[in-house]
Amino acid sequence: AEAPAIPKPGTLPPKIVNVDLGDRSYPIYIGEALLNDAEIVSRHVQGSQILVVTNTTVAPLYLESFVKGLREQGAFKVESVILPDGEEHKSLQVLQQVWDKALESRLDRKATFVALGGGVIGDMTGFAAAAYQRGASFIQVPTTVMAMVDSSVGGKTGVNHPLGKNMIGAFYQPRCVLADMETLKSLPDRELASGISEIVKYGLIFDPELFNWLEENVEKLLNRDSKAMMHAIDRSCAIKADIVALDEREGGVRATLNLGHTFGHAIEAAQGYGVWLHGEAVAAGMVMAADMSFRLGWIEPEICKRTVELLKRAKQPITPPKGMTAEQFRSFMSVDKKVQDGKLRLVLLRGPLGNCTVTGDFDPQILEDTISAFVA
Ligand code: NAD
Ligand code: MG
Repeated sequence: AEAPAIPKPGTLPPKIVNVDLGDRSYPIYIGEALLNDAEIVSRHVQGSQILVVTNTTVAPLYLESFVKGLREQGAFKVESVILPDGEEHKSLQVLQQVWDKALESRLDRKATFVALGGGVIGDMTGFAAAAYQRGASFIQVPTTVMAMVDSSVGGKTGVNHPLGKNMIGAFYQPRCVLADMETLKSLPDRELASGISEIVKYGLIFDPELFNWLEENVEKLLNRDSKAMMHAIDRSCAIKADIVALDEREGGVRATLNLGHTFGHAIEAAQGYGVWLHGEAVAAGMVMAADMSFRLGWIEPEICKRTVELLKRAKQPITPPKGMTAEQFRSFMSVDKKVQDGKLRLVLLRGPLGNCTVTGDFDPQILEDTISAFVA
């Protein structure tokens, strides 16, 4: 059983979400001042060796105090490796640096790799741990909203290949996740806002109450209000944890987490990755998915309107970039991973707010109509 986390004086008590995967179950701690609470981390470290993996942006902000806390905790030997920052460095070549450091430091299989950073660092560190001596332990310390609500939960790890994003990887679950609201204080506004897109996604696919709450509180999230942020992250992680517990390897229901992502990937690919942030592309993609769901007669127009209004307030784009063509949507969407046996499957909304479906069973002309409505 989990010993309860003890709140630091003057901070909100942490929330804990459990990801239920049998003997690979793990807790997600969501709170303030968790980063320097080395006691929680050490509870989930098996051996005595720790390798912290971070990048050149996050290291100067948080690495020193994090490592100091761990060393003070006692018997740990703590090493660190600092990777270059950016999606373009999410590659096998850069990952090699992690394994180099691990081997030079003579880490054994009982070592724990700790990811300190956003989704790029989390995905890379998880894959490095999965492959290191056939499986070292792994802890996620996400420092972006995107990583806290999405990438650190559920065990998808990996790197990009020149021929495709996230094409090399493994399912590998962490021992625990530590989401510290303090770290969001330094996150650039645009990165923060784009993470809110994925929170809106959880409301749309699963949780009308969360959606209503966002309509009341989205400005608090933009202002980094810890209490509001903890609530949004707690709900998001709980929903993702439930979905992952049902379908760890995406045979079915996990695909619903891709709402807006097929349209969004087309937007990201057409512009070249990195021009729009992932959450921004997903925001415009969700508006398109809602539009298509309405055209199919599956949702009330009210849901489209509320989605657009909420995403606008979250400072997200609600249409694809100017100049994007229907042909680009057609070609980039058909190479999407959700294509099975030549048939495009999409996550679409269906029924009252909070319900969706993954289906290839729709009139293709309706997809064409949606695309036409959103390109010039
Ligand atoms: P990111 O990791 O690139 O972080 C965004 C930027 O913020 C980077 O420049 C980073 O250095 C900086 N940063 C991070 N934390 C900071 C902090 N506290 N203060 C200041 N700057 C900080 O991007 P991201 O949006 O966190 O993650 C995107 C990645 O996650 C993509 O590679 C995507 O494929 C992956 N992802 C994976 C999953 C999954 O299920 N595994 C899900 C969603 C996304
Ligand atoms: Mg996403």
